Amino acid sequence: MTRNFISQGLIFLAITLLVTQQVAVAYPLESLDSVVGRSDFSIDQTSSSPFFSRSKRSLSSSVKSCLSKTGAKLTYPSNSTYDNLAKAENTNYGILHPDVIVSPSSTQQVAATVKCVAADNGNTKFSPRGGGHGYAAYSLAGNVVMDFSNMTNIVVNSSTKQVVTGAGATLGPLAKAMGQQGFALPHGTCPQVGSAHGLGGGWGYASRKWGWMMDHIVALELVDANGNIRTLTQQSTGSDADLWWALRGAGSNNFGVVTHFTYAMEQAPPLTTNYNHVYGSNADCAKVLLVLQDLGSKTDANSGLPSEFGAELLMYGENSGDDGACSLSGQFLGSKTSYQRTMKKINSALSAQGVTATKVSAQEFNNWVDALTNIMGNLDQPKVYEPYYAQSIMDDGTPGYTASSAKAITDAMQAAVGVEGSGNSISFDLNGPLSATNANPAYGAMSFNHRNSLFFSQIYSYAFPGFNDPSARSDALQKISAITQATRNAKPNGDWHAYQNYIDPELKNFGTAYYGNNLNRLKSIKSTSDPKTIFDFPQGLAHA
Ligand SMILES: Cc1cc2nc3c(=O)[nH]c(=O)nc-3n(C[C@H](O)[C@H](O)[C@H](O)COP(=O)(O)OP(=O)(O)OC[C@H]3O[C@@H](n4cnc5c(N)ncnc54)[C@H](O)[C@@H]3O)c2cc1C
Repeated sequence: MTRNFISQGLIFLAITLLVTQQVAVAYPLESLDSVVGRSDFSIDQTSSSPFFSRSKRSLSSSVKSCLSKTGAKLTYPSNSTYDNLAKAENTNYGILHPDVIVSPSSTQQVAATVKCVAADNGNTKFSPRGGGHGYAAYSLAGNVVMDFSNMTNIVVNSSTKQVVTGAGATLGPLAKAMGQQGFALPHGTCPQVGSAHGLGGGWGYASRKWGWMMDHIVALELVDANGNIRTLTQQSTGSDADLWWALRGAGSNNFGVVTHFTYAMEQAPPLTTNYNHVYGSNADCAKVLLVLQDLGSKTDANSGLPSEFGAELLMYGENSGDDGACSLSGQFLGSKTSYQRTMKKINSALSAQGVTATKVSAQEFNNWVDALTNIMGNLDQPKVYEPYYAQSIMDDGTPGYTASSAKAITDAMQAAVGVEGSGNSISFDLNGPLSATNANPAYGAMSFNHRNSLFFSQIYSYAFPGFNDPSARSDALQKISAITQATRNAKPNGDWHAYQNYIDPELKNFGTAYYGNNLNRLKSIKSTSDPKTIFDFPQGLAHA
């Protein structure tokens, strides 16, 4: 969840300058097996390296004419605002080149737009763009990209304890609107992340207590592949019930456009404690992982770690430029005294092994918005553009880390410190048997299938080399992959998953990694509900 902001100012600036000069950047070669030969994505032969790009075919005059009657705002490449709208948040992808960007202000305009695209029999591809924070810029993959900056409505209903959000709403403003009325949801810590967060999971420090953000969805308004507007709930039947199951897990541009979300809110806690502990050496960090594994696996909150304790162990290696070699940080949904009672269990187990934190901080808040702002920063801050790459792994509940496998992880992490100017880390976000992330969802079965993990890890690389430097990119990728591999080696036959919200364009078996045993049913619903594959991107279900 957390990014490792090693001081990379100059490198970041240099890479940003390089990537913004790129003309056509698209999808890396690893996707070749599943995508080559299709008319919608092709290899860009003009690039110095083989990237995938959208076919160069421009929109047909009939699609253009149809779009002009939808009432939505249209931005073509010749418009002055186009570049800003077509710019990827991950700057390694530069400016992508959709044929048109459509900005609707109502569900009816979305439906009219999808009808125009559908009339082109699958030759025109469509991508909704929420917060634009998908890791591989897939929300810019289509010929027609839908920008939701005019549909950012957030309506909090304190009587029903539900909030309705438009497809353009982002986490910061949503958290603020709910928090000001004493409500909350579990979600990630980046204020500009958008609505796709809730379609692929949505993990934050409150998730051990309240589950994934998607577990709180009580209704979805969907524009389907025929441009029909459907409302999906737990009471839906027939094909609506299939979509209700499928969208919660695989809803990102596979089955239609979700135009509005209704979430059941939680009561914001009266007291919250944000904390951070830094440990100085890799050897100490390996021990912290083992202690978290031991206490986090307990099924009894008295002897283990109660669900109020949201935690992330972030390893970034020694001499990385950050404090120490790792940090254990998070949010406790309760008073500082209760937090200290829980932390004492961790501290006692560590001090018995001679490990103490080199820096400790803990701050109690009596206002949920203040507690979130302390972690997320300004909730209204504008989008930050940066170059990065990440992999993810979720264990099967019993990763079985030992002293030697934990050391292998910290060794691999240390080998990646500063590689090719990047800033790297591996996070261990705690779930476990007491975590609501692993409970049965309240609003019916769903395709999201990560319900067992003890830890949920992201191997994250900040200032990751761009596609225009294949040798540096390959070197950095190899080091990042080695951290992932070292982690998986702790249990070679374990049922490891990957997190669809940390979408990884280099992941070859992405279908089973993201969806496990649900893949076949998802593919079947995809081919029935969108037979011409108008909702498409390189890791869409049509390619899995
Ligand atoms: C800085 C940063 C921090 C993050 N922190 C966390 C975290 O703490 N916890 C966590 O769980 N995740 C986190 N994420 C991952 C995040 O949840 C996913 O990247 C998520 O997909 C982003 O949603 P978006 O709407 O911003 O993305 P977009 O790029 O807009 O969309 C992602 C995909 O969903 C599709 N899509 C978008 N809107 C819709 C819609 N309305 N209907 C159907 N399909 C749609 C797009 O076409 C695209 O394929 C983080 C990401 C970033 C970049």
